[in-house]
Amino acid sequence: MKKIIVAIDGHSSCGKSTMAKDLAKTIGYTYIDSGAMYRAVTLYCLENGLFTGDELDVENLQKEIKDIRISFVKNPETGRSDTYLNGRNVEREIRSMGVADKVSPVAAVGFVREEMVKQQQAMGLEKGIVMDGRDIGTIVFPDAELKIFVTAAPEIRAQRRLEELIAKGENASFEEVLHNLAKRDHIDSTRKDGPLKQAEDAVVLDNSDLTINEQNKKLLELFDTHSC
Ligand code: C5P
Repeated sequence: MKKIIVAIDGHSSCGKSTMAKDLAKTIGYTYIDSGAMYRAVTLYCLENGLFTGDELDVENLQKEIKDIRISFVKNPETGRSDTYLNGRNVEREIRSMGVADKVSPVAAVGFVREEMVKQQQAMGLEKGIVMDGRDIGTIVFPDAELKIFVTAAPEIRAQRRLEELIAKGENASFEEVLHNLAKRDHIDSTRKDGPLKQAEDAVVLDNSDLTINEQNKKLLELFDTHSC
């Protein structure tokens, strides 16, 4: 069977990464979490004094962007890939509310996107990947064989995200999470470079009322029809 590229885009916290990971595992493809890359750049900015309050020091980030190396390394314990920032495992830190709060402004910077898109395209040269994000089907892989655009009601997304944070021992309220999602969706959809938008040839999947099993089944059916 020929290898293809599966591009999964959509709003924040609508379960893209869960479905992308499950699909990749079932079909034996590599899963790439493009959001983790923007989160890692954001963590770098936070740790290296590039934020003063909400203000990002774009000038110094531009000087340092080439020194930010992001890689994915398989974790033998979980069987999943962890995100590394300059050789350090940052998988846990990049999922914090602190990073979530600052990631969209970082991801809106043109030269940051240019660098990340370049790295993402290099990861897809051999095909056989499932990548999730905001601009995968529109900018990173406009020729992807299968494009999915995922969405769900904001309250449902916020509840799912809150449960994830609580399970990880983070403190957050429903309102705080809902506000963060709305803010990220707004910045992501209205930015100039690589805005979040549905590709014309994407299949829309609203998973508000779907169980994970139902969603996985739909996705696998779509994969089967697009990969033969
Ligand atoms: O997917 P996730 O929620 O982890 O992504 C974190 C943030 O990274 C998003 O809110 C968005 O601002 C940014 N992002 C992006 N383009 C992508 C993936 C993520 O701008 N392809």
